[in-house]
Amino acid sequence: MNPIKKLQNANSRIPLKFKIWMYFIVFTVAVFVLLWIFQILFLEKFYESMKTQDASESMDAISEAYDKMDKTEFNSFISKVAVDNDLCIEVLDRYGRSIFSKDVLGDCLIHGKENRTRVYIVNILQSEDKIIRYKIKNTRTNYDMLLFGCTLGDPENPSGFILINSALVPVGSTASIIKRQLMLITAILIIVAFVISLFLSKRIARPITGITRSAERLAKGDFDTRFEGKGYLEAKQLADTLTYAEKELSRVDTMQRDLIANVSHDLRTPLTMLKAYAEMIRDLSGDNPVKRNEHLEIIINETDRLSLLVNDILDLSKLESGKQKLNPSEFEIKGKMMEIIDRFSGISEKKGYHINFEPDEERMVVCDVVKIEQVIYNLINNAINYTGADKQVYVRQKNLEDGVLIEIEDTGDGIEEDKIKLIFDKYYRSENHKREVVGTGLGLSIVKAVLKMHNYDYGVRSVIGKGSIFWFKIKT
Ligand code: ADP
Repeated sequence: MNPIKKLQNANSRIPLKFKIWMYFIVFTVAVFVLLWIFQILFLEKFYESMKTQDASESMDAISEAYDKMDKTEFNSFISKVAVDNDLCIEVLDRYGRSIFSKDVLGDCLIHGKENRTRVYIVNILQSEDKIIRYKIKNTRTNYDMLLFGCTLGDPENPSGFILINSALVPVGSTASIIKRQLMLITAILIIVAFVISLFLSKRIARPITGITRSAERLAKGDFDTRFEGKGYLEAKQLADTLTYAEKELSRVDTMQRDLIANVSHDLRTPLTMLKAYAEMIRDLSGDNPVKRNEHLEIIINETDRLSLLVNDILDLSKLESGKQKLNPSEFEIKGKMMEIIDRFSGISEKKGYHINFEPDEERMVVCDVVKIEQVIYNLINNAINYTGADKQVYVRQKNLEDGVLIEIEDTGDGIEEDKIKLIFDKYYRSENHKREVVGTGLGLSIVKAVLKMHNYDYGVRSVIGKGSIFWFKIKT
């Protein structure tokens, strides 16, 4: 076995419960790792970039406000910015004298009178750079500090300066607190994942286990098994599909039994008669030519009946095996139909049936003549079998633009709506079947198989108590 197959096999032996649990654990660990990376490894970098961004944005906001606001407004604006962002802000005039100042840090590098750092930075802003961003170590506290500054007004001839100082408080202690919290959260998450996965897997697996058990029963031939798929949509769909499959299986099973019963019955009757009449000829009528011929006639009829039945079965099995190919040829449809109807003249005369043919003009069609002949024959045969007491059957040929419509109508009891779908099924046979002409329950299945092979449309229109019209359309 190749290794992938082996793995797949091993995989498919793991119960759903464990799989869900495993996925949950993997998910938890992934969340934990992500949190760890972001919280611990990148915490410092995040913090620093956040602080830098805050200071930078504050500086931009202040220089914008400087031009727009009056003194008191500006003063309160600076206080607000300083408090909101934990900053020390100094706004200086063109000589480097403090005009507005707010210190929230308490350990500001640029605050206070005669501040040397402030003088130094103002010098830089006056001469070299018009904007500065420094990160400096505060020697007293050993913290890193951000020092930002820019000019106000025209950079070449500044009307003042903004200086901003922000502290980068070490994140080490915060990180260790977060680390502990993360560990605790991870432990809790793993326990929660375990409980949820247990609960979830039970909910998911329970209906599937139930359905599997029912399917096993079905496989053993119990067609009364119920498939329950409570809990969620997919299980319900699976259960519904299996219930449908069960119904179909049960129907086919019943039909197969019926067919065997029907076929054996149909075989037994002529066989019994054959034997009885053969014995009669041997023992009684052998010397009486009239009686003997009468009995021989019955034997011949019954043999015909038998060969019809056997032919039907063979035809259908050949058609359904897909091995039969169409053998199309061109022929006259009207002539062909008259020829088929003629074949029924024997039974018409003997039993009083009347086949009314309503032809259209002669039309050439191309199809497998032998098979289409059989379709028309089977449909007329059925119409005779099931027509009403008036014994009338109507056969119509209607030439259309793109084909020829053939209709075969009877005046019988009609077919119920829900039966129409079934009658074209193999083995289906109604209980109130009367046998004027031999029937096997296969006639319409042969019709369906042939018309499907030709890709012709076909169907039934039926009114209960009035009769049915079977139709199909030969494409031209
Ligand atoms: P069979 O006629 O030998 O039983 P078919 O396959 O020809 O088999 O027909 C299947 C079933 O369809 C019949 O048993 C009958 O119940 C129904 N059926 C067929 N043709 C007609 C019809 N013209 N009128 C009413 N029922 C019909």
